[in-house]
Amino acid sequence: KAKQTGRNKVCLYNHLLHQETQRKNLLEQDIHQALSLNQFVVHYQPQICTQTQKVKGVEALVRWQHPTEGLLKPYSFLELAEELNLIGNIGQWVLHTASHQLKHWQRQYHLNDDELTMSVNLSTFQLQDINLLNLVSDVLTSCDLSPSCLELEITESSIIHSPENIVGRLIELTQKGIKLSLDDFGTGYSSIKHLHLFPINSLKVDKSFIAAYEQKRSQDKVLEAMIKFAKYLGLSVIAEGVETAEQLAFCQAQGCDLIQGYFYSKPISAHDFESQYLVK
Ligand code: C2E
Ligand code: MG
Ligand code: MG
Ligand code: MG
Repeated sequence: KAKQTGRNKVCLYNHLLHQETQRKNLLEQDIHQALSLNQFVVHYQPQICTQTQKVKGVEALVRWQHPTEGLLKPYSFLELAEELNLIGNIGQWVLHTASHQLKHWQRQYHLNDDELTMSVNLSTFQLQDINLLNLVSDVLTSCDLSPSCLELEITESSIIHSPENIVGRLIELTQKGIKLSLDDFGTGYSSIKHLHLFPINSLKVDKSFIAAYEQKRSQDKVLEAMIKFAKYLGLSVIAEGVETAEQLAFCQAQGCDLIQGYFYSKPISAHDFESQYLVK
């Protein structure tokens, strides 16, 4: 009986594996077309200032409006896009779309350059591109957007492999006036060792640290220390993944500058962001 159950489990596993491979093959064919068919969309998640309770920034997060699979989150296609060498194209599209959107909001709602910052995630591939500065500059020029309105999010894991090459590229971006933030802080391997090398303006405390907050002193001390550490380095601190009032109160008390999380809002469409956060 036990053997039978085991065999069924193996069969089921093979079946699922096969389905997964098939699904991947299908996605692979689709992803090539998705860019030309304009199926990617950008959703926007507000970053709220702890001092003023107002929206100060917004993170652009890509989704894929798949014709049969529905709205797909990045984890289900970004890795595949990377394997297919399409991540650069998608990244550039997101950068352009988000910059264009911000310019539109600035005009429509009479926003000054310092009122709303657009944050865009950069993939490892984009960071390794020697043309990165030109690509970003071209987008800013074509959207007539000031560099100070743009913040590029990088992760530690994407810089540890060749920090020397990448640091130079990042310095060029900041010299142009673009801001940089370190995403998912605390989950990489080199958090402290390389931190002073990177010309970053802000640090995003990874949501796993916020999720661990349960008023248990032992765990909170790590979060508390991370925030203090960032502040000590003169960085602005963004708490990511804040879902509850308790987490919010803690982050606020510890001196976080911005809060991003479901407590305020999930990532939403440009239209919803506009009607919920921008006023004429
Ligand atoms: P990330 O850059 O760390 O973005 C934050 C992620 O946390 C988003 O997931 C967001 O929806 C989620 N999040 C925000 N607040 C909460 C919360 O309170 N609770 C929970 N459980 N989650 C929260 P999303 O949109 O699925 O994106 C996942 C990752 O995909 C991003 O993590 C980023 O690494 C990557 N990504 C998204 N868009 C792009 C893009 O345009 N280019 C690149 N290279 N990567 C992207
Ligand atoms: Mg991010
Ligand atoms: Mg993050
Ligand atoms: Mg990430």
